[in-house]
Amino acid sequence: MLDQPIHVGKVRRLYDWPGNRLLMVATDAISAFDHVLPSEIPDKGAVLTQLSLWWFDQLPFPNHVVSTDVPPEVAGRAVIVEKLAMVPVECVARGYLTGSGWAEYQASGTVCGVPLPSGLLDGSKLPEPIFTPAIKAPMGEHDENVDFATIASLHGDRLATRLRDATLAIYATAAGLAAQRGIILADTKFEFGLRDGELVLADEVLTPDSSRFWDAATWQPGKSLPSFDKQYVRDWLATSSGWDRVSPPPPLPSEVVAATRQRYLEA
Ligand code: ATP
Ligand code: MG
Repeated sequence: MLDQPIHVGKVRRLYDWPGNRLLMVATDAISAFDHVLPSEIPDKGAVLTQLSLWWFDQLPFPNHVVSTDVPPEVAGRAVIVEKLAMVPVECVARGYLTGSGWAEYQASGTVCGVPLPSGLLDGSKLPEPIFTPAIKAPMGEHDENVDFATIASLHGDRLATRLRDATLAIYATAAGLAAQRGIILADTKFEFGLRDGELVLADEVLTPDSSRFWDAATWQPGKSLPSFDKQYVRDWLATSSGWDRVSPPPPLPSEVVAATRQRYLEA
């Protein structure tokens, strides 16, 4: 039996583990618009864990994974990782304009302080990938997009520059691997920890919860993009559910659960 978790996130739990390690367990819970939904997506935790492990293996960057030899009750959906001092920055790379970036661009022509050319559409490819960091908000609030200077003032120029360079380099590698398979990596979020002063890639990587993946064959700027991520659930909540995004979210109809599960398995 596992002890009490030391951290309960919206979808994952962390447990202390001997040897300065953590057991990171992914549940089948799903969140959208910063709310945990009352319905679970069967097998989601295992799918996300395996995707993340696959990507860690592909990326030529130090990472926190120690082992997948985990207790049987969480087999397949947990990993043992090095316990790191986390840098409290959500390191987002965007190659395409959408989501909160699109919203900010419409208001100001910039994303996280980065000026962009005019005339871009929701889903447009950016002239080059950009680093658009965010600061984690307290439980229940939206993460806050900030500019590079804010990260530099919080963490120093040197660390801020290393975060940006690592984020853009890893994004480029991952986007290249996805492109070979006909998939666009529109944007993604990384979190880094420090080991003896060196950046180590931590948390989960390149899952549908931390990234937007699109089918390159059907990508078209200005159109709502079918994606392998939670967009399906978000769309249902926003258009068909009647939910006000303030009160507790409604349960998902079984066909939405089934279609979402199918998307995770397909990913
Ligand atoms: P949210 O549900 O909004 O994502 P959260 O980030 O607190 O909230 P999780 O992502 O489930 O919830 O929690 C994982 C936590 O573990 C994060 O705080 C993350 O920064 C932290 N973390 C990830 N990898 C490591 C590591 N190697 N060492 C220490 N902490 C880590
Ligand atoms: Mg998190």
